[in-house]
Amino acid sequence: MALFGGGKPAVKKGDMVYAWTTDSEIAKKAECGGAVTTFLKHALETKMVDAVLAIQRGQDIYDAVPTLITDPKDLKNTAGSLHCGTLLLSKVVAKHLKGAKDKKIAMTVKGCDLMGILELAKRNAINRDNLLLIGVNCGGTVSPVKAMKMIQEIYGVDPMKVHKEEIDKGQFIIEFEGGHKGISIDELEEKGFGRRTNCRRCEYKVPRQADLACGNWGVIGDKAGKATFVEVCSDKGADLLNRAVKADALATEAANPKGIELRQKVEGAMLKLGEKWRRKDFGTLKGDLWGTIGRETGRCIKCYSCIENCPVCFGDTEALKAKSFMVTAGEVPPNGMFHLRRFAHISDTCVNCGQCEELCPMDIPLALFSHAIRVEGDMAFEPKLGKAAYKN
Ligand code: FAD
Ligand code: SF4
Ligand code: SF4
Repeated sequence: MALFGGGKPAVKKGDMVYAWTTDSEIAKKAECGGAVTTFLKHALETKMVDAVLAIQRGQDIYDAVPTLITDPKDLKNTAGSLHCGTLLLSKVVAKHLKGAKDKKIAMTVKGCDLMGILELAKRNAINRDNLLLIGVNCGGTVSPVKAMKMIQEIYGVDPMKVHKEEIDKGQFIIEFEGGHKGISIDELEEKGFGRRTNCRRCEYKVPRQADLACGNWGVIGDKAGKATFVEVCSDKGADLLNRAVKADALATEAANPKGIELRQKVEGAMLKLGEKWRRKDFGTLKGDLWGTIGRETGRCIKCYSCIENCPVCFGDTEALKAKSFMVTAGEVPPNGMFHLRRFAHISDTCVNCGQCEELCPMDIPLALFSHAIRVEGDMAFEPKLGKAAYKN
């Protein structure tokens, strides 16, 4: 067995550890143990990668900015989780970083970022081999505009006075000038707020197709809140973790078996909740999916945002605008083909990332439609896959 300095056994694929940074600046800003930022920093410092793509807080807590970093010193600014950060990173890699074809890039990914990356890699638009993927578990994100409205109306707090938010033990907690307040996400969602609707239906909570999957579920005992739970998902991930420990950038200990059990239970409960939301949301379509699509898309202003931002809708939008099969140029609202064509060609690959719905200026529930079509399709090939989504 390979050994670290000090005789500690090296980790391998499948291992689970508690990890925490030895860098006091990262520790101050990090969400839990700062392992994610330390992995990214170590990979950049030791030239395992040429650059890091991470999310950084912009003007306020509602402003999550994708940032490309080449100086390891700048990484501390990206530590911490932004739960109002609803953006998707896969198309950023494909469109703005040449699909990582000429550079090695380390990046943080939620489940939907990861699914988008894998779909684009299948289409040869991203080189997965050049990516070092540090996954973060994800219970869901809150739309920034809706979050501000929720904080104003439900919390009774001026959203501009909130300087920190976190999700802990099922509550969305805010810190503001003069106090803090937490309300359960279930209660918020009953009132029409809380997580985005696609996040409620999401069933990719622990991103095991990344190289490492990091989160806070399962960290118990004296390490609770101070360490990151890391599941090693690939040899590349194991190599990075081992190197970071060897360089004393990161400290680790074996995950507590009770913590592992707890993490499994929470993940299971989240998956059940996702199924419940699928039944509820798809139930609202009441066998009239296509009629509902026709009615709702009647207010489309043909801005092309849903096409441009979909990770699996991959084509030349400019060419589409100029000449489009069965869609008349300049006609608003466009005829049904405008939407049917997109739904048809993403029907087997929609990853339920929610970008189409999030960015639609006309608030058309596009993600609900795409997701329902995808699940219908899954059921045609493998009944068990989609059955739970419709079962009462
Ligand atoms: P840090 O060192 O603080 O690094 C955090 C990293 O997350 C940084 O690289 C930053 O760029 C990135 N990041 C911040 N916001 C976003 C975003 N919106 N999208 C993509 N990347 C982002 N863990 C659980 O166990 N259960 C959960 O339910 C859960 N929900 C989460 C929901 C969201 C939206 C996010 C972003 C994270 C969630 N996590 C969850 C993971 C957890 O919050 C920590 O990110 C993880 O434990 C790593 O902690 P750390 O101290 O090592 O991370
Ligand atoms: Fe997280 Fe899933 Fe929502 Fe993506 S779709 S932000 S992985 S809950
Ligand atoms: Fe139409 Fe909304 Fe798509 Fe824009 S984002 S083209 S308004 S459906």
